[in-house]
Amino acid sequence: MGTEIGYADEYDNADRRRGVLWIRVPVKPGAGAPLPGRVHALRQRQAINHLLCRGCGKPTAGGRPDRRHLFLVASEAGQPLAEGEKTTTPPVCDGCALEAVLEGPSPRAGYVAALVAYTSPWGVVGIVYSPDTLEPLPGDNGHKLSFVAYDDPRLRWTLACREVVSVHGCTAVDLENLTGRTAA
Ligand SMILES: [Zn+2]
Repeated sequence: MGTEIGYADEYDNADRRRGVLWIRVPVKPGAGAPLPGRVHALRQRQAINHLLCRGCGKPTAGGRPDRRHLFLVASEAGQPLAEGEKTTTPPVCDGCALEAVLEGPSPRAGYVAALVAYTSPWGVVGIVYSPDTLEPLPGDNGHKLSFVAYDDPRLRWTLACREVVSVHGCTAVDLENLTGRTAA
């Protein structure tokens, strides 16, 4: 029995990041195109690690004097992003945020926005396999996927699908201000 999961034909650079095995996804051309509804694992990882807009792929702090990053995340409860909160949602530039907010069926429902000073790597979301049976274990709260921190011993048995960061230096942004500010 092995000590971790891996691919039979594994390429270290392509398949692992920070020692974690990543799900294989087709590398599609047209990297500048908007992300589809089902987030592409590689695009998500690159966007959240390099703080690139999830809509257009441009750096999100570029045009902002305070160099902070706008995060626009789904929140059923409407709770603002808290200090140290974990997210898999990459940041977004003002233009793409405005589009996302205005295009929604009920524009302001279900989103919260915050300006974030910096992010820290936290872990991954992925499928955890049993070291004994090599079968996938049930995920968090009845889902298939689990949040697994970088210091979690289960990490060696996890097939990562999303990068997770924690957000720091958060200031909540009123979505009314967002639309006003970006439209101006
Ligand atoms: Zn954008």
